[in-house]
Amino acid sequence: MGLIVVSNREPYSPVREGDGELHWKAAVGGLTAALDPVLRERGGTWIAWGDGEREIRSVELPPGEERYRLERLHLRESELQDYYYGFSNRALWPLSHYFLNRVRYLGRYWRAYQRVNRRFAEAVVRAYRPGDLIWVHDYQLCLVPSLVREALPEARIGFFWHIPWPSSEVFRTLPWDREILEGILGANVVGVHVLEYARHFRSCCRIVLGYDNDGRVVRISQREVQVEALPIGIEAQTFVELSQTPEVRRAAGELRQQVGTPFLLGVDRLDYTKGILERLEAFGEYLGRYPEAQGRVTLVQIAVPSREQVDAYRQLREQIERLVGRINGTYGQAGWTPVHYITRGLDRLELVAYYLAADVMLVTPLRDGLNLVAKEFAAVSEQGVLILSEFAGAAAEMHEALLVNPYDHDGLVRAIGQALSMPLAERRQRLECLKARLRRFDLTTWAKAFLHALEENR
Ligand code: UDP
Repeated sequence: MGLIVVSNREPYSPVREGDGELHWKAAVGGLTAALDPVLRERGGTWIAWGDGEREIRSVELPPGEERYRLERLHLRESELQDYYYGFSNRALWPLSHYFLNRVRYLGRYWRAYQRVNRRFAEAVVRAYRPGDLIWVHDYQLCLVPSLVREALPEARIGFFWHIPWPSSEVFRTLPWDREILEGILGANVVGVHVLEYARHFRSCCRIVLGYDNDGRVVRISQREVQVEALPIGIEAQTFVELSQTPEVRRAAGELRQQVGTPFLLGVDRLDYTKGILERLEAFGEYLGRYPEAQGRVTLVQIAVPSREQVDAYRQLREQIERLVGRINGTYGQAGWTPVHYITRGLDRLELVAYYLAADVMLVTPLRDGLNLVAKEFAAVSEQGVLILSEFAGAAAEMHEALLVNPYDHDGLVRAIGQALSMPLAERRQRLECLKARLRRFDLTTWAKAFLHALEENR
């Protein structure tokens, strides 16, 4: 039985080297890492938006091994603007993260979203062979399950929603709330990261559409849709092995030397959901309240620019830069800069060196579907402390972290103090519990668990 994976982003992107030769480079990120091995094993098709090299419609992957086929859909610039930057990232993203002050519900965005989802669904129908499993990913493609269901009533379709599912009180502000829910309910199995999101999804189905639910199942007149909470894992073993290589250990040692003091680390896409401003404010406040810490602790913030075509993201970048400047101007001394601010994306090796070198990891999103950085740090760190927002999905399975409410300014300042003074034995003990859970439920287990639920669904 083959597998058809559908996602907005492609698992490998075409890159032209200096000599003009084309290479397919694996995308960074959880989804590719999780599904590439599954597709290699089963064979099948991955359908995604083809970013660049428009004449290439389809390619066998991985490069040189040719285990599955990538079908690339090309979008016009205007489609990309309205479907991706518009409906996906100006409507569904802020809505699902409870940022109602940032939503833009434009009819133009919605029409493009419908059109592009239809094109993805048509590509699925073309690729489908009887018996295949279809697995659609994320908020950019909510309408695909029901569109495919219309054409292939017998198909087995799974849908995974990777961001938070909000309360019905918030979700109902979307003028197309019914259409989005009906779109997803074309699937047999719907997956989310956290029980709370599953509960919200089911209550939206009841309140918005009037569909009863019973335990994990939403009942529609002819069918039942199973809703599963399955938090994604990371390749824990790969991260640990990487952290033990001489190259990474050397890089981590150099980092500690360069920073020159114990340091707190933040690693985020530059997104208003990540709580970067609130975190910087708390660090500034910590330095103000405890002058003895000045010159003795540093914050290293990696903020990778993202979705810069959206105004809110550009404005945030400016606000963060101003705040970093203010803290460094207020507290900096010759030989010590309080905040090291990096806006370059790091590759995995560099990132693991940072995780290994950091004393405290600050993961304080105002809202986050799961947060992989928290898991990656806990897998790698040998004696660090993880401060984790209770509004990140990962908090549901990482009780040994220092859980904080990122809106509670004083609480955040206190947590920084507590983390920096935590005894070594306690730090190690907390990390051990976190690591054991990360090993037990890793990325492969996650993908297998979802596909198992889909195969078993009758
Ligand atoms: N990441 C990376 N380089 C960077 C910063 C982040 O490769 O410079 C990766 C990180 O390892 C993680 C992912 O990007 O796997 C971020 O995932 P997360 O769930 O934390 O947040 P998202 O960006 O999906 O909202």
